[in-house]
Amino acid sequence: MQYDEVDVIVVGAGFSGLAMVHRLREAEFSARVLERGSGVGGTWFWNRYPGARGDIESADYCYSFSDDLVREWRWSERYAAQPEILRYLEHVADRFDLRRDIELNTEVVSAHYDDGEARWTVTTQRGDVHRAPYLVMATGNLSLPKTPDIEGLDSFEGEWLHTGLWPHDPVDLSGRRVAVVGTGSSGIQAIPHLAEEAEHLVVLQRTPNYSMPAVNRLVSDDEWRASVEGFAERRALCEGSDAGTPLPPATDRATDVSPDERQDRYERGWSRGGISSLSGAFNDMFSSEESNLYAQEFARAKIRSEVHDPVVAEALCPSHHIGTKRTCVDTRYFDTYNRPNVELVNLRSHPIERITPSGIRVEGREIAVDIIVFAVGFDAITGALAEIDIRGRGGVSLADSWADGPRTLLGLQAAGFPNLFLVTGPGSPSVLSNMVVSIEQHVDWIVACLAHLRAGGHRSIEASRDAQNKWMQHVTELADATLYPQASSWYLGSNVPGKPRVFNVYVAGCGPYRDECDLVVSDGYRGFVIDGLGHDEIGANDE
Ligand code: NAP
Repeated sequence: MQYDEVDVIVVGAGFSGLAMVHRLREAEFSARVLERGSGVGGTWFWNRYPGARGDIESADYCYSFSDDLVREWRWSERYAAQPEILRYLEHVADRFDLRRDIELNTEVVSAHYDDGEARWTVTTQRGDVHRAPYLVMATGNLSLPKTPDIEGLDSFEGEWLHTGLWPHDPVDLSGRRVAVVGTGSSGIQAIPHLAEEAEHLVVLQRTPNYSMPAVNRLVSDDEWRASVEGFAERRALCEGSDAGTPLPPATDRATDVSPDERQDRYERGWSRGGISSLSGAFNDMFSSEESNLYAQEFARAKIRSEVHDPVVAEALCPSHHIGTKRTCVDTRYFDTYNRPNVELVNLRSHPIERITPSGIRVEGREIAVDIIVFAVGFDAITGALAEIDIRGRGGVSLADSWADGPRTLLGLQAAGFPNLFLVTGPGSPSVLSNMVVSIEQHVDWIVACLAHLRAGGHRSIEASRDAQNKWMQHVTELADATLYPQASSWYLGSNVPGKPRVFNVYVAGCGPYRDECDLVVSDGYRGFVIDGLGHDEIGANDE
């Protein structure tokens, strides 16, 4: 089938795609959303593992585009669990009648730009062809699960699961011996739940991680009313902040205060809980090794005080700088290792040798299990884009042009790919921020840009190569001034063999980033080429 009728094709119906289609409709653009899942929700549709929940407070991890929606939706917990977030997104799809523009079970396999027609042709796995002038990739930053590449997996006679592709039907773990591979955010959230359900749980840990206590709780009626009344003010704080959250920024460095004051601040953060438990205490945790070391020592002391067996506690103590691998947020994670049915296997010096028909072999020892849960993460930020055959002007592929690392202007557009927009693309604050705040900002920017093109009778917009180069250099320089590039992390692509190691997240924060995006617009879409000639000389809108 061939479909030609819409202005914009949107790929993905998660937080980004739903906001996108709603905003496009408000601006009187027609849109078609193509979604691979059998339901809406994106990340929250796929990641159904036990314990999956948000690590940004529910009051901030939600849309702001409708006051009615803010008033109507009653979050039950400070950090909502996956089923509640999914229900919220399903409610949004129904409440705003978005489903009529969404085609489920539809995987985009290619997207090719026709320069002459200024139009994208998008092909699905069924061979259907959709054509539209504009294409928006709302494909998410953590949406392509990494296939476990451990030798022998094919021979395993038990069941294996990936946290990022968890089955819809409940998985019965009672009386089963379960192994978990991976101790990132997903593993750390799942492990306490798996331990409660399984007869025996073996955690295979390659790198221990820092995890902050969630201090989750039910939201009382009074709290909920206050959060609705103060929503606009709170959201404005998020939008101007670094991380997209309303926490007031710390104003001093860790070395500005006495050791007692430092300890006191960390303790207060720890009692408050959440991802910024320690990073919110001082303004230099991501830039000063000394500051980071103080926070590390505090976190390691907490692990040692919580885990009874000192050998296990030591194995759980991370040594990288806090935050350089994504900080986790947990409920009862470290305490889980005090349970008699939980065993930690440290892979630091002895990696998994292979998977056998009946279990996992490590250091010559066969660990017999019935189920293996892989919490091994994602091909992050660029994975979901690179897996689609995206071709811009002259048939150039996006994956090829990003072979040495992704290149964009503001994380919104890539040179050579006119009329293609990325929501929270590489080079924007994306995964270092509250995703919903960053998504809404991008969605609004893109819709305003399309309205600008329509008003001026234009047919195309594209990042200029020169502006893109300058932006990526700026992104790299900012990152290099921090500790972020020092760890092996998915931020850098180090978790995927062969992926170039490039830190492609804008670290200066949501507020400064938003200001820059607004400035670019008020400067007449500085750095973007409108109705360009379609070759490398374009740069007309550059300074
Ligand atoms: P992840 O952070 O990439 O963690 C993957 C884990 O698997 C790491 O511990 C990694 O060890 C380990 N691993 C990978 N391959 C392995 C192998 N062959 N053998 C042994 N261990 C292996 O993935 P994730 O936990 O799914 O989290 C990804 C991101 O998703 C998070 O950082 C977060 O941004 C997001 N997330 C958010 C939430 C939330 O908001 N609530 C929940 C879950 C995930 P190494 O570190 O040694 O590579």
